Amino acid sequence: HVDHGKTTLLDKIRKTQTAQKEAGGITQKIGAYEVEIQYKDQFKKLTFLDTPGHEAFSGMRSRGVQVTDIAILVVAADDGVKPQTVEAIRYIQSANVPIIVAINKIDKENADIENIKQQLTQYNLIPENWGGDTPMVPISAMKGTNVDNLLEMIVLVSEIQDLKANPNGTAQGTILEAHLDRAKGAVATLIVQNGTLRIGDILTAGTSMAKIRGMVNSFGDKVTECLPSSPVLIWGLSKLPLSGEHFETFEDEKQAKIALQKAQEASKENPTIINTISESYSLSNSSSKGGINLIVKTDIQGSAEAIINSINKIHQEKVQIKVLYAFPGEVTETDIDFADTSGATVLAFNTSLATGARKAARHLNVTVKEYDVIYDLLDDIERMIDAITGPEYDQKRLGEAIVQGVFPLAKSFVAGLKEIEGKITKDAYIEVIRNE
Ligand code: GDP
Repeated sequence: HVDHGKTTLLDKIRKTQTAQKEAGGITQKIGAYEVEIQYKDQFKKLTFLDTPGHEAFSGMRSRGVQVTDIAILVVAADDGVKPQTVEAIRYIQSANVPIIVAINKIDKENADIENIKQQLTQYNLIPENWGGDTPMVPISAMKGTNVDNLLEMIVLVSEIQDLKANPNGTAQGTILEAHLDRAKGAVATLIVQNGTLRIGDILTAGTSMAKIRGMVNSFGDKVTECLPSSPVLIWGLSKLPLSGEHFETFEDEKQAKIALQKAQEASKENPTIINTISESYSLSNSSSKGGINLIVKTDIQGSAEAIINSINKIHQEKVQIKVLYAFPGEVTETDIDFADTSGATVLAFNTSLATGARKAARHLNVTVKEYDVIYDLLDDIERMIDAITGPEYDQKRLGEAIVQGVFPLAKSFVAGLKEIEGKITKDAYIEVIRNE
């Protein structure tokens, strides 16, 4: 739940690292942190993935992909179990992932650890000293109290679970995030879950393929290989893969192409696969003409239905509009959190925002729009469509040329062309046609 101290805890864990380098910009993009801790004369590496901020998680939720081995649920001892805490618990339990509860903010005067434990029992999370099997570690993320105990608990749980991966063999794992980089083209952050990933490997993720040209680890260092449980940023992809997509690597290109073809056929046969909330979100992020996700809250059920009916009448050839849900009631923090993970705009019709929802919206940068006239709401949706599609341009052909050679220059490439028709002018756009 917002403000329960997740970010503070992650920061604290990173800072307690002895030989830790100052985290570069890349770490921000990766949204994953690797830390090494000493445990009984041994060094243990832990990788933290930030969620629910991580877009990949909503994608995984819909497809049942599992990328975490252990979940840490942060609950503030001065606040208690909130709707989003419950949502997180349900998600973790449905994914069958072992859970450790970090009861945070115990330095606060009004912290009530026993009360939190009591509340959690309602969701089948029973502390060990009450006869249950859920480790609960009271901490202060801000002061660093007991954070070492929490880390040890993570190692202990991983030993009990006998979590192991095999570094031998070709790598496989999950795409966490993907975006277009100006210099590197399509790049993706992924987590290797088995095998070792190396530069030059041929990788497929859904209908995207790569011969890996470069890798950067979570410390921002260029690396040539990546072992299980490590997150890494790669480039050399033919197109953007989707968050939460499974990736595999192949020894030769032929095998990879067969896998790719299968994925392409599957996506044609079953286009709904790329129609889940999170995927349409990552698609809308990656293409200039994406979709619009909406969450609608209204005064009464009747107006929710009326709004959905009107939205369905809007032409959607250019932009796909998706109402994730429309319910009567106040806009709650859960709505805001959901809007955040799914990239949605919240439309509030004749209703108000619950306490904390406005603050959460500001904190997460979620847009909430309030209306009391349905036509204003519909007009606004039209404006959102215009904002995405923008003005349309006509194509005017200037000339045609054939690429005779390509030479690397600094971080980019230069092409030598032979002009066969018309002319080529500075600042003109080009379209490259290969194999027809
Ligand atoms: P997040 O939204 O879950 O990432 O929460 P933040 O890490 O941003 O923390 C929210 C607020 O709680 C911030 O003002 C933190 O300084 C404060 N906070 C976090 N951990 C603690 C703690 O252990 N003790 C106290 N007193 N405040 C904390």
